[in-house]
Amino acid sequence: MGFQTDAIHAGQIPDPTTGAVMTPVYFTSTYAQEELGKSKGFDYGRTINPTRIALEKNIAALEKGKHGIAFASGMAAITNIAALLNGGDHVIISNNVYGGTFRFFDKIMKRFNLEASWIDTSDASQIEKAVRPNTKMIYVETPTNPMLSITDLQAVVNIAKKNTLISVVDNTFMSPYFQTPLTFGTDIVIHSTTKYINGHSDVIGGIVVTSDDGIHEKLRFLQNAIGAVPSPMDCFLVLRATKTLGLRMRQHNDNAMHMAKFLSEHPKVKKIYYPGLPSHPQHALAKKQMSGFGGMISIELGSIENGKNLLRNVKIFALAESLGGVESLICHPASMTHASVPQEDRMKLGLTDGLVRLSVGCEDSEDLIADIRQALEHV
Ligand SMILES: *Cc1c(COP(=O)(O)O)cnc(C)c1O
Repeated sequence: MGFQTDAIHAGQIPDPTTGAVMTPVYFTSTYAQEELGKSKGFDYGRTINPTRIALEKNIAALEKGKHGIAFASGMAAITNIAALLNGGDHVIISNNVYGGTFRFFDKIMKRFNLEASWIDTSDASQIEKAVRPNTKMIYVETPTNPMLSITDLQAVVNIAKKNTLISVVDNTFMSPYFQTPLTFGTDIVIHSTTKYINGHSDVIGGIVVTSDDGIHEKLRFLQNAIGAVPSPMDCFLVLRATKTLGLRMRQHNDNAMHMAKFLSEHPKVKKIYYPGLPSHPQHALAKKQMSGFGGMISIELGSIENGKNLLRNVKIFALAESLGGVESLICHPASMTHASVPQEDRMKLGLTDGLVRLSVGCEDSEDLIADIRQALEHV
């Protein structure tokens, strides 16, 4: 099936009791059993919920995977992935991952003796060099946040297969509409559904997708044992949102493309990071493994003062953390989303104090460009 057909139908059969076309929200913590040892396959709300099952099947189909496992947040999904490992294991992670992912591995998993190497995974030779006898997982984010650097998915899969590592891709920035890492042979895909998948900035959620039955069984056990599950209402909202994912992603992509062209020609913009521009150093790789470039753009304005002046003067763009909603957002990564990354590490990544990140929404493109144009006059 095509993406939009799956988005609207996968995982959703009319309700067996009433024929309701839309999946009901099953607000229940438990299920009555007919007699001892005889249930309808449902026992307890943390373990299983029909609204959650529909969401899991739906997103699994969009990612071209077999199994979806939903969580209460993107971070909860990442926690459960980390719980596949043991103390003493080693994991290779992109050095420019989401700030919360860095904080989780660096401040929490380290205490459990999980070793991590922070690597520029856009350079495959560095990944190979980082493999140790106790390496069990390679975890990458592509494109990265906020530098939009790209990791070669095929290279990651090849290294993972050669060294029997579990490969994990955080696909939050592209959504399954523009990138499906499982089709390259990746073992696990994770999303913060808070971002593009839900797309309306009204839910915190996460999901993991895999086609590996063994990994699925382990994650299903962890989902129940750790208990960081999403509420039925949140599952309903995200399921409602995936129906328009393709439409929204096309609009994000078109708007961002126009915005990127405008910004790349603007004299006050010192540098622009957007994989859809031929000037992006990995534009060719982006075209090879993504079918679009998404709505995220970062620009270098040279100083924190310049950044502040832009942020202060935008009218449609809201100054806020997060991304991927229909409304446009603007943020200052160094003091907001990436404040937990030490300054020295930020500088190495190019994540300077003058860097501003745009999440280009689904408004009218001309209005968005006019807003940034007038705000840049104050820079
Ligand atoms: C937001 C985000 C996360 C964390 O997800 P939450 O839903 O906020 O817990 C993980 N990875 C990426 C790329 C993100 O943007």
